[in-house]
Amino acid sequence: PPAPSNRVLDEQRTFDEQLRPTRLSQVIGQRKVKERLQIVLDATRMRQTPLGHLLLDGPPGLGKTTLATVIPRELDTEIQFTSGPALKAPKDLVPYLTNAISGSVLFIDEIHRLPPAVEEYLYSAMEDFRVDIVLGEGTNARTLSIDLKPFTVIGATTRSGMLTAPLRDRFVHQERLTYYDTAELTEIVQINAKKLSSDISDDAAREIAIRCRGTPRRANNLLRWARDYAEVHGGGTITDDIANRALEMREIDKHGLDEQDRRYLTTLIDVFTGGPAGLSTLSHSLSIPADTLEDEVEPFLLRTGLIRRTPRGRTVTPAGWEHVGRAKPDNDGD
Ligand code: ADP
Repeated sequence: PPAPSNRVLDEQRTFDEQLRPTRLSQVIGQRKVKERLQIVLDATRMRQTPLGHLLLDGPPGLGKTTLATVIPRELDTEIQFTSGPALKAPKDLVPYLTNAISGSVLFIDEIHRLPPAVEEYLYSAMEDFRVDIVLGEGTNARTLSIDLKPFTVIGATTRSGMLTAPLRDRFVHQERLTYYDTAELTEIVQINAKKLSSDISDDAAREIAIRCRGTPRRANNLLRWARDYAEVHGGGTITDDIANRALEMREIDKHGLDEQDRRYLTTLIDVFTGGPAGLSTLSHSLSIPADTLEDEVEPFLLRTGLIRRTPRGRTVTPAGWEHVGRAKPDNDGD
């Protein structure tokens, strides 16, 4: 049986799938990104050549996979899915490349985690639509060069800074997704409540929007929780009161911080007197992988001004001290 963490991941994926917009017109927000993509899509259709390789960058849950799946639908073509960690050696990439039909999309999630050998192999595939494959072993080995159909790589990354320059340069288009505002998130919650056939008041949708840290995936997860809560404790309708009680039970505060976020702040305050503390030191103290801290916890704390990144490490700002109800000592040396 799969490990529990995989089951949780699979379930999240199925849920994401169910709530994913299918056309560009249904994608909420990201106005400028959508406008630019629309132009590229129109030009691609007119020229009847494959779309140039596209890199999507941004924190988890902001819609990278969503955009990547919408694009082939708009172009009426196929998409294949893989990810950086799944491609351990060049040979793992070969079937995707040879299966790609002309104009189709190969989506590579977490492309910053491609092993260097696979990354290099991908260069020539992306640039010349040609790869070398080695047949046989040792002295009998011979290299066969094969032509590929022109296709499009859509890469998704939470860390474009970790991509090597040669890989980044092979992307003709690069788009960065940013956090959503409350109005956009309210709309996403309302649309997705309909998809889940659940009733939600406007106030409740807004409450979830305010407390989802600008992230649609989080909004969806909170909506799902509020729906369960409403079914058990109310008549099934997610009223403002039900939403508030549901969020309170999940210990999500007025700003959308959860227990883990607050523990980050209190650890930085209690163990490191507010910092500075390095990422790996913090990761050890919290028993949370450094990647998770950097990708999923810190961006929101930085954006809301509760922490700061300095050359010597992370520090809690006065607003951060206040948020967890601690008094910042005077004269603490920084
Ligand atoms: P990422 O690939 O960036 O981690 P996803 O594309 O999987 O994020 O988005 C997670 C979920 O959030 C989707 O299933 C979808 O329901 C919702 N979502 C994300 N972006 C949008 C958007 N722009 N409009 C509507 N829903 C969105």
